[in-house]
This record gives sequence, structure tokens and C-alpha cells, in this order.
Amino acid sequence: MDARDSTEIVEFAARCAERDTGDAESFPLESVNELKAGRLLGAALPVALGGRGWSLSECVEAVETVAAASPSVALVWAMPLGLSGIYALGPDVAPPSERARWSSQIERVAERYRAGEIFAACNSERGAGGALSAIKTVARRGPGGTFRLSGDKILASAGRYASHFFSTAKVSREEIPGAGEVEFFLVETTASGVEILDDWDGFGMRSTESQSVRYREAPAWDLMGFPDFVNLVQPTPFWSCLFAAVGLGCARGVLEEMSAPPVPASPAVRARLVEATMRYEALRAYLLATAAEWRPAAGAAYASRVLRTKTYVTQESTRLCADLMALSGGRHYRRGSRVARLLADSFAGTALRPPLPLAIETLAEQFGEPQA
Ligand SMILES: Cc1cc2nc3c(=O)[nH]c(=O)nc-3n(C[C@H](O)[C@H](O)[C@H](O)COP(=O)(O)OP(=O)(O)OC[C@H]3O[C@@H](n4cnc5c(N)ncnc54)[C@H](O)[C@@H]3O)c2cc1C
Repeated sequence: MDARDSTEIVEFAARCAERDTGDAESFPLESVNELKAGRLLGAALPVALGGRGWSLSECVEAVETVAAASPSVALVWAMPLGLSGIYALGPDVAPPSERARWSSQIERVAERYRAGEIFAACNSERGAGGALSAIKTVARRGPGGTFRLSGDKILASAGRYASHFFSTAKVSREEIPGAGEVEFFLVETTASGVEILDDWDGFGMRSTESQSVRYREAPAWDLMGFPDFVNLVQPTPFWSCLFAAVGLGCARGVLEEMSAPPVPASPAVRARLVEATMRYEALRAYLLATAAEWRPAAGAAYASRVLRTKTYVTQESTRLCADLMALSGGRHYRRGSRVARLLADSFAGTALRPPLPLAIETLAEQFGEPQA
């Protein structure tokens, strides 16, 4: 199925846009409830587990379509959708000794998706620059064997509307033999020691409820996957492609808005819109070509390719939005106009992990290394 051209997704996106027109500031509860009811929240999960069995390419297409209409809905969706792509990898991705445990976690997580529970990302920390290795949150094993997280996170999209956070924390190898430096943990948002602040006031993505979160000895209900999950599975490219799709959708939304009838009388404006269409189509083709190659544990060369793609697509999408805004004339020069909102929303793509400066620095360090 081509998720982009699916009438269902196009119609859903149109409803999201309509709701945004009425209220672009409040959490888009109705739209998120539609994602739940339509088994779209975890659409990458196999059909048998309550998902749609979507590939990463299909997820990218759908997120882009929704982002063109409502970037906030697309961003809130990207976090649980990405996680469902990781749980969709199935039992074989685990080392033989961890397979039974991982299979049972897949079942439990899928069950929660079916119940409409949102798994939101709560990983970023002030000053970490988006690097997992620079985080300060720690997980320590408590008396009953439960891991307890302590640390300060920022920008957890969906905030208190989420039921669970998947959160990174540093661990000790004495407590988790074979662990990596950083592991993911699953935490109930209502657990003791979890404080969701009310400090979100974004430049764009206004309705995403991307709040700060404080963990004080907050119990995790499980370690995500198995020890050294981040290195053994290399899951993050899945989200990077979805983040790029959000930025790309913003550019598509601006382009659609400006190309809407009546066709601009000026040949110069028409020529610039044709040029913008070519830029958009090239970005989309680059992103889809990268997404089509997704597989777990794909190695350093693929990770670099995803980093280049995410960096280029988000940066150029934002540039495209800005170029089109400059062409757009006074009609769109209103704080709440759709074009102005899409422009502000597009900057989130460059901030999302890895943020632009860190991404560019990493790419510069990698320059000259073998790419295959
Ligand atoms: C709308 C929105 C929604 C978000 N939703 C989520 C979410 O749901 N979950 C989540 O976990 N995060 C979320 N994020 C956070 C996003 O992933 C962070 O912006 C990102 O991790 C970077 O953190 P920071 O901007 O606080 O960087 P800071 O640590 O404050 O760094 C500031 C700048 O300095 C640069 N920098 C810092 N250290 C280095 C270094 N060593 N080398 C090179 N450059 C460096 C960074 O790249 C960055 O540009 C969201 C962000 C936005 C804008």
C-alpha cells in the first residue's frame, strides 16, 4: 500500500488541518484518538499484533502527508509510530539467550498499543546536544530488582497525554551484565517519581505538549529489549527518517498552500513555484531512497547515510519554507496564517535529534571515512 496516496490518510490529514484551523494551540486530542481507533498509532506493528504492517517507507509517506496538513499531529505520532517500527522487528533481532524475554515484551507492548496507550519519547536533556552518550539521567536497580530513573528530561512531546515514556538512562555494567553505556527504559507516566512540568511554549509545533519531565527514583516497568539494545539493534535511524518526513511535510504544505488556485498571474512567481516543486521532489526522493534501505543493525555506513539524509532534508525543507514565505506576499503575512505556522513548525526538524550543529559536526568528523 502506498500510505501517501491512501485515501484514508489523505482524509485524516484534511480533518487534522480543519481542527488546527479552529485551534492550533491545544493538544490535538481528537486527531490522536483517530490514530488510536484506526490502529495507526503503531501502524508498523504486524497486523496480527494490531498494527498495519507498514514498512518505514510507508510510515514516512504517511507522516509526511499528515505533516503537510498538521505538523504537530505528525510529530506527536512520529514517536510511538517509530517505536512500533522497532517492536515490529520481531523476536529474531534478539540474541538467542534474550529471545523469549524480547518476544514477551513485544506482546505486552503491542497489547498496550491496542488499548490506545501512547508511548512517547522522553530522552532529550539540556546541554546534551542531542547526543545519547552525553545524557546525565541514570537508572539504578532498587531493592526489589526494579530499575529507578533519576534525571531531568526536556521536550517530551505528548506530555501528560502519554501513558508511557521510553527513556534513555546511563546504567552500570555490574547491574546489567553486557549493557551498553545507555539503555532505554519503559516508564509509566503516572508512576511515582515522574513529574511532568507545564513549561512548553514552543516557537512552532505549539500543540505538541513537548514538556520537561523530572525523574526522581521513578520506577521503570521494564528495560526496553535486552542489554546493549542501542548498539545491537541500532534503532534510531527509524525515527530520524520520520523526523525528516515531518520537516518535508511542512515544505509540502507551504507549496500546496501557495500553488492553490487561482494560479499566480506573475510568470516569475510561477517559475519559482516550479523550482520549489523540483526541490521538494528531490528531497522526497532522497528520503524515500534512504528509508527503503532501513534494517536493524545496519552498520556505520547506513547510520551515516541516515544522518546525511535527515540533516539535508530538514535543513533544505526549512529553507524551502522560508524561500516560499518570502515570495508569499501580504496575504500570508499574519502570525496565525497557515504558511507562517508551517514555517515556524519546520524549524523543529532541524532541532530534533540529532540537532543541526551536532549533525554537521558528526558529518565533518566522518568525512573521508569509507562509506560502504
Ligand atoms: C518541537 C520539538 C519537539 C521535541 N520532542 C521531543 C520528544 O518528544 N522527545 C525527546 O526526547 N526530545 C524531543 N525534542 C528535543 C530534541 O530532540 C532536542 O532539541 C535535541 O535533542 C537537542 O537538544 P537541545 O536542543 O536541548 O540541545 P542543547 O544540548 O541545549 O544544545 C544546544 C545546541 O548546541 C549544539 N551542541 C551541544 N553540544 C554539542 C556538541 N558536543 N557538539 C556539537 N554541537 C553541540 C546542539 O546541537 C544544539 O543545537 C523536541 C524538540 C522540539 C523542538
